[in-house]
Amino acid sequence: MPKKDTLKRYRDKRDFQKTPEPKGGKKKGGKRPVFVIQKHDASRLHYDFRLEVDGVLKSWAVPKGPSTDPGEKRLAVPTEDHPLDYADFEGVIPEDEYGGGTVLVWDAGSYGNLMAEKDKPLGMAESIRAGHVEVWLEGRKLRGGYALVRTGAKQGDDQRWLLVKMKDREADARRNPTSTEPDSVLSGRALKDIEEEAKPQ
Ligand code: MN
Repeated sequence: MPKKDTLKRYRDKRDFQKTPEPKGGKKKGGKRPVFVIQKHDASRLHYDFRLEVDGVLKSWAVPKGPSTDPGEKRLAVPTEDHPLDYADFEGVIPEDEYGGGTVLVWDAGSYGNLMAEKDKPLGMAESIRAGHVEVWLEGRKLRGGYALVRTGAKQGDDQRWLLVKMKDREADARRNPTSTEPDSVLSGRALKDIEEEAKPQ
């Protein structure tokens, strides 16, 4: 059987004549898997949390964004897999296209799979299927352990997950990076800078 094309949903939702988003297929994975968190000013502002797993970016939309406070549980709704090329995408998706709005790379780096270090080690894909992911992020804004835990429906569009900071030396209830560090780690730009630059001259 051919390997399942997990990017079909991504491509089916988009018209690449109209959106500046990458079609995918150019970028290959490196030694360490990457994570990226994109701030996406769509009809509702949210943060897209993405983890490289088996050559694609597994993705969750997090309306309030991540917290560094282990006491804060943040809703995370699974979305379609994205190509690895998406990890450095910043730009403006036209309003009438899927996901219309401005995107910036809010945080990025590599990560490690903490579930691989348990008594019963689990790979990333297995952890996602089991509904319990634990990763150690090495980002510019976020560091340390984060858990993603599924609650409720196991499959389909009713899935709900929670993104929670784990209790470790990087936990900090006083930080609030989504408000104190709002800009891109790639380009230093704010959402409004990206919007300005995308306007036809
Ligand atoms: Mn989004």
